[in-house]
Amino acid sequence: MTSSVIVHYHEIGLKGKNRHFFEDVLRNNLDRALGGVDHEGARRLRGRIEVPLGEGANLDVACTRLSKVFGVTSFSFANPTTTDLGAMQDTAWQLLREEPFETFRIAARRSEKAYPMTSMEINAAVGSYVLDRRPARVDLANPDMTCFIELTGKQSFVYTRRHPGPGGLPVGVGGIIVCLLSGGIDSPVAAYKLMRRGCRIVFVHFHGEPFTDRSSQGVARELVQHLTEYQMRSLLYLVPFGEIQREISLQCDPDYRIVLYRRLMIRIAEQIARREKALALGTGESLGQVASQTLQNLRSIDEAATLPVLRPLIGDDKRDIIAAAEALGTYEASITPHVEDCCPLFMPPQPVTRSRLEEVLAVESKLDVEALVRRGMGSVKVERFDAPWLDKAQ
Ligand code: ATP
Ligand code: MG
Repeated sequence: MTSSVIVHYHEIGLKGKNRHFFEDVLRNNLDRALGGVDHEGARRLRGRIEVPLGEGANLDVACTRLSKVFGVTSFSFANPTTTDLGAMQDTAWQLLREEPFETFRIAARRSEKAYPMTSMEINAAVGSYVLDRRPARVDLANPDMTCFIELTGKQSFVYTRRHPGPGGLPVGVGGIIVCLLSGGIDSPVAAYKLMRRGCRIVFVHFHGEPFTDRSSQGVARELVQHLTEYQMRSLLYLVPFGEIQREISLQCDPDYRIVLYRRLMIRIAEQIARREKALALGTGESLGQVASQTLQNLRSIDEAATLPVLRPLIGDDKRDIIAAAEALGTYEASITPHVEDCCPLFMPPQPVTRSRLEEVLAVESKLDVEALVRRGMGSVKVERFDAPWLDKAQ
């Protein structure tokens, strides 16, 4: 019996044209996520998506891939059949005869209300077919096993397991965001959360060359490679920041260095955003977590931005962010030893925790900011990352 994947997604707030756009993006993402898995094109099917699988499909691989497609609330490997009662009874029985259980229930759902039987009548008819063939009890509240039957037009899909999807919105329905990725624990989690809201992420990493080794770039690459499995293809901008830091540290009061570094990073990230047609920047900052992340400092940093700076971790505790990084699988890469914060040579002993914007602006006025931004952009390198299973020709 060839099987299909039935994919469910939330439809709340998806009306009219918007809904078709959402479904088309999701279909396309499902097809790409299943690259190399034997399947036919994903198709829309009354409030759900069906992906027909070929004989050679590896279900474990399909399962891992589908659990990373945003917009999917759940998915199931189903056996398709007609909506003829005998066919549904037989398909349900073929599935259930393999399974160990004492209690079960049938859960039918019709999208075609014109069907001659109600869902309850289908449940009863299929349930008694099973009970005639093996000893078991029906338990509607807490069964060992549920057999789902979804009727859509002339077809029905029968399955026993629902795998949770990652939720969120399909990557591509939102805009593009340039995320500042440091190599630390927080920023990859922040990028993930923004991606999960349907946005495509372009990554930018500032490194300390020529004053530091390349370790932080290696970590950034590893993180981007990992996160690319959620959006299939990524760009990573690598910006040498050592000279810029040196210039700032030569010209400016050490107390203000960190805020000034961040303001420069924001400006360079905005140049990249312009090039990539991004509508916002993203960072991994969380309120009050470290000295540079006080409300006063965030205000001083944001004053340099013209695009919105999104900080999805703003209200999160470090403990929660670490747990999220572990669940996401980025924690290990983030804690591998690497040079943090570009070049430590230029780190002030005691950064100011409550910068006053006027003072920041006064200190910054000693710098030729535009020249520094040009210098950063002039030596930027861009690398492309693909999900490992993607056909390079796609
Ligand atoms: P993270 O764990 O993400 O490094 P953090 O707690 O160390 O964050 P900061 O060092 O204050 O916090 O950095 C705040 C944010 O600024 C980071 O989350 C990241 O978005 C951005 N950022 C800092 N350093 C860099 C860098 N070298 N390259 C790119 N972005 C950076
Ligand atoms: Mg950091």
